[in-house]
Amino acid sequence: MAQNKVVLITGASRGIGRAIALAFAEPGSAVILNYRSGSEAAEKTAEAVRQGGAQAVLCPFDVAQPEAVKAAFKDITDTFGRLDVLVNNAGITRDNIFPRLKESDWDDVLAVNLKGVFLCCQAAMRPMLKQRFGRIITITSVVGFTGNAGQCNYAAAKAGIMGLTRSLAREVISRNITVNAVAPGYIETEMTQALSEEARRALLEQIPAGRTGTPEEVAAAVRFLASDEAGYITGQVLHVNGGMYMG
Ligand code: NDP
Repeated sequence: MAQNKVVLITGASRGIGRAIALAFAEPGSAVILNYRSGSEAAEKTAEAVRQGGAQAVLCPFDVAQPEAVKAAFKDITDTFGRLDVLVNNAGITRDNIFPRLKESDWDDVLAVNLKGVFLCCQAAMRPMLKQRFGRIITITSVVGFTGNAGQCNYAAAKAGIMGLTRSLAREVISRNITVNAVAPGYIETEMTQALSEEARRALLEQIPAGRTGTPEEVAAAVRFLASDEAGYITGQVLHVNGGMYMG
């Protein structure tokens, strides 16, 4: 499905991004792995992608920095001549109860989780419009739909992704570019390891499946939306949450 496709995944060094990178690791594909600073983890992911038979390229930049994003996308299109799939996966949390939420925590989370998506989508437009093909998939979150105490900044950014996804989807489907989102529930990664045992137990009680999800289960949804077969699906969100929320 992704044969001979050029795929860029942001935040691909570990966690869900790593699983997404591996889902695209097949002969003929070029998988470009973005991250901000975790080179060691990114190199391990690249090695695993190469074992799958794909070309793997490390591409560190901060998705929230406009000039860095522009330069990276220019490098990618100069090198590969195209960009078929963009997966906006990079994300951070800076949780706190609302009265104590610092302005800098609001700004940082919105900068990476929402503005970063805007910057990468806009930079992807040039190659995708030119080649009249593209698949953009952004990782939002169940909390963008349900809200979550202690995550006003994160939930606002994740909900914002849906407005961007639906609007951009309407603009570019005539050029054969689809724009969709995947909304994971509670997935075991470093991001969720920070949760207390108590918070973890409370979360599990809300999941009808009775278990947390895996990064590979999220990656499978992304892989489907990136496929040629998904060309008539746009502006949608695919929930991967064990029944935690049914939109
Ligand atoms: P992790 O914290 O495990 O990994 C985050 C990745 O994003 C790392 O590769 C990190 O790179 C990269 N990153 C962070 N900030 C930047 C930046 N400014 N520029 C470029 N890369 C950056 O997160 P998860 O794998 O858990 O989450 C991945 C996505 O899934 C996020 O968008 C998250 O919000 C979403 N999600 C996760 C859920 C979960 O339960 N885990 C649930 C719902 C949504 P580096 O190490 O170099 O900083």
